[in-house]
Amino acid sequence: MKFNEYVYQRPDYDTVKTEYLDLLDGFKNSVDGAEQRAFFKKINQLRLKIESMSTLSSIRHSINTQDPFYETENEYWDNQGPLYAELNNQFYQAVLSSEFLEDLKDVYPITFFQLAENALKTFKPEIIELLQEENKLVSEYYKLMASAQIEFDGGVYTLSQMTPFTQNPNRDTRKRAFEARTSFLVQNEANLDKIYDDLVKVRTKIAHELGFENYIPLGYLRMNRLDYDAKMVAFYREQVLEYVVPLAQKLYKKQASRLDLDKLAYYDINFDFKSGNPTPKASPEEMVQIAKEMYHELSPETGEFFDFMVEHDLLDLESKKGKQGGGYCTYIPEYSSPFIFSNFNATAGDVEVLTHEAGHAFQVYQSRWVDVPECAFPTYESCEIHSMSMEYLTWPWMDRFFKEDTDKFKYAHMSDNVKFLPYGVSVDHFQHEVYANPNMTPDERKVIWRKLEKMYVPHKDYTENEFLDKGTFWYNQGHIFSTPFYYIDYTLAGVCAMQFWKRAAQNDPNTFKDYLKICNIGGTKSFVNIVKDANLISPFEKECIPSIIKDVEEFLYSIDDTKL
Ligand code: ZN
Repeated sequence: MKFNEYVYQRPDYDTVKTEYLDLLDGFKNSVDGAEQRAFFKKINQLRLKIESMSTLSSIRHSINTQDPFYETENEYWDNQGPLYAELNNQFYQAVLSSEFLEDLKDVYPITFFQLAENALKTFKPEIIELLQEENKLVSEYYKLMASAQIEFDGGVYTLSQMTPFTQNPNRDTRKRAFEARTSFLVQNEANLDKIYDDLVKVRTKIAHELGFENYIPLGYLRMNRLDYDAKMVAFYREQVLEYVVPLAQKLYKKQASRLDLDKLAYYDINFDFKSGNPTPKASPEEMVQIAKEMYHELSPETGEFFDFMVEHDLLDLESKKGKQGGGYCTYIPEYSSPFIFSNFNATAGDVEVLTHEAGHAFQVYQSRWVDVPECAFPTYESCEIHSMSMEYLTWPWMDRFFKEDTDKFKYAHMSDNVKFLPYGVSVDHFQHEVYANPNMTPDERKVIWRKLEKMYVPHKDYTENEFLDKGTFWYNQGHIFSTPFYYIDYTLAGVCAMQFWKRAAQNDPNTFKDYLKICNIGGTKSFVNIVKDANLISPFEKECIPSIIKDVEEFLYSIDDTKL
């Protein structure tokens, strides 16, 4: 069966609800653990079916947003989603208060119970109105940012359409592009400050309503942090500050000298090589063919996985009219099928789809055996280990995609990941300050942001831009508005992926075996335990970053970047 033959049928909510509540009754009234497990299984089958239909609808809508059928279906799921979630909450409650809880725990993944607890701790009906207000403010932010119409060199552009100009080889163009982009933020400063201030206030109110001291512990629960806390994260940030910031600063100096500049201005930071960024030297069809060979050579498991993806048409890679932007990987449990969505645009990003998104897809393919919908994928920070590590594990094949640009690709890939870590933790640090002190004024928040930039990303020189110099760059970082504390995840996973990179580079024979092991685990374990099972050092241990940073530095210095 191919993807377009997968059958979509909208479930009727009332019918589902009756069936769900009947099964739930059976679950609650079970006389022993065995009977209860049987109901648990049936409830999960029902939930997997519903999730499959909602996922199919969302994939097909994203492939063609102009298809009226799936547009209607998409609206249905937007409206009905919370109702299905409410049924799940009743299920969680029944599970956690079950007298046979221990029997269930013997059979089902521990993470299911932890996630169920989190879901209940972060919700009560009294906060519904506040949640709606929070959603409204987040939408307002995205709408405002999407409304930008920036006049530049005779054209009119959105914020993301301005990106190529901010990376233009001509320095003056870059500078003017940044200034044009910034002018939109200057005009909307009061608006953005108000949206964020309201968000901080409403989140703090929700936290108080649920009995938390401030939003931080609630934010951790909402992000499903199962086995680490704010103190451990603070320690990790210090490690990044001590070991990674100095290397990143050296890399920026090298970048300046590659560009024949004494010092990078803020508008030079995104421009890496005078000769342009590395690009793939193959057509989309050729790239899929190369990926197929690559995954067969990497391991029997990855070979089988990629054949499955191709045979069932589970890759929608090329841009076309009506298609949504961006890229993602998702999973359709009823058909045991991962799905990869992207918009190829002839940049290195196309190859990253075939490695990063394929890393997510391979993990969930290996986790097909998990029959609890919450545990197919792990929590976010763990998910990104699979994807970011796959980017490194496929390095030996990158020459087939990049030909003469291979060294440039590897140099850019690694140095970008190093440079990202300090920025990533600064975003996290900022949010801890904000939510620990919810009564700060917008101007006080800006002062904090600028102070943290000087700590973690001291190369950022805004002397030519007064607006950014007062601490406003974070207006661009959507996560800060939409999903508090979701950002450090990429850095935690990055540090784990670099350990896989190092092991592969040193020909550790267990590298792939350990990678495969954590793909099989899927979401049945929490972050720290997944890291342990992979035989990696946890980012919260003081040995972690020092164990990789020297090798990373040596690798980067082994390439003569002046020739790139
Ligand atoms: Zn990812």
